[in-house]
Amino acid sequence: MSPATSRIELPSPAPGTRRTLLVHRYGTPGARPKAYFQAAIHADEIPGLLVAQHLLCGLEQAHAAGRILGEVVVAPVANPIGLSQHLNGRLLGRFDHESTGNFNRGFPDLTAGALERLQGKLSADPVTNVALIRATLRAVLAERRAARETEALKLALLDLAIDADYVFDLHCDGEALLHLYASRWQADDALALGAELGAAAILLEEEPGGDPFDEACASPWWKLRAALADEGPVPLAGFAATVELRGQADVNDDYAVTDAAALLRFLQRRGVVAGEPGPLPEPRCEPTPLDGVDVLTAPAAGVLVYRKRLGERVAAGEVVAELVDPLGEPVGAARTPLRSATDGLLFARMTERLARPGQKFCKVAGRKPLSHRQAGKLLED
Ligand SMILES: [Zn+2]
Repeated sequence: MSPATSRIELPSPAPGTRRTLLVHRYGTPGARPKAYFQAAIHADEIPGLLVAQHLLCGLEQAHAAGRILGEVVVAPVANPIGLSQHLNGRLLGRFDHESTGNFNRGFPDLTAGALERLQGKLSADPVTNVALIRATLRAVLAERRAARETEALKLALLDLAIDADYVFDLHCDGEALLHLYASRWQADDALALGAELGAAAILLEEEPGGDPFDEACASPWWKLRAALADEGPVPLAGFAATVELRGQADVNDDYAVTDAAALLRFLQRRGVVAGEPGPLPEPRCEPTPLDGVDVLTAPAAGVLVYRKRLGERVAAGEVVAELVDPLGEPVGAARTPLRSATDGLLFARMTERLARPGQKFCKVAGRKPLSHRQAGKLLED
């Protein structure tokens, strides 16, 4: 089967304007395992766009050598809507200017619709159940309709991924070390992926809140497993991870070649692509809970002056940054120390250096869940 390229048309948002979603497919449709990649659903997160290009080159080579065993689907530009949002010379791709909110929130949870149809249908055979659940999730999704362009984009992306064995959503943070978000139900896969990529933090959650893309893909499996526990075995057949490819300015071929090679080795280890990946690198970190990440928040407006660099370990109570009030009196005295609530690794900081009141400006990954972090509200806006 030769690689195929298709274009999914999104609804025209205005007369004379129409955007399309480009999709590359490798391997035989329906072959297993299936992997799905998408880059820059937050459209101002450019590292994934370059990693996807190197990944596609690797997949072309694998195809030419007959080494695609399963199926690989790649949306190299997951958000053409966000990429068009330019204002005063800046790309603003995190929130939809059409007011549907954060582009990586509000993906539909297909669990309830699938559960209705699956009750009384499972068998004792997990393989048959997986195929039935995948078909059911696809059927439930196919009945959804979206008038708005962004909602149609979300359904189209989910449709490409919902039946995949492995889903990789490529993002980045403001300034950051490479890190991952995944479910605690899939800690082993997350640890293996993190080791492959050299992740500095692997953040596991049960309920992040906000319905991001990775959760929409993977969570029906553990939710259905719990709901149908008396009816038959339900393996967790869809792993999904949000891969944060460092910071917004970390766009270069050295990083992208390395990251794409790591993703291809993960596919080799999982039998999606043939080849010898070599030994799995030692993980750089233990997985830590997402509710153990202290997200430091500015209490007031001011100039942010960091006292800690990315990659530094900080102790609970230690000053990570100071907030300087440029209108404060006496001159130079109005500095507010901002402290970490946990022992951990400073792995992400925002790009701007002027904080607004309530703005979340950096993240420290600790081992212990923090009482002020609440399940269902673990992601920033
Ligand atoms: Zn993002």
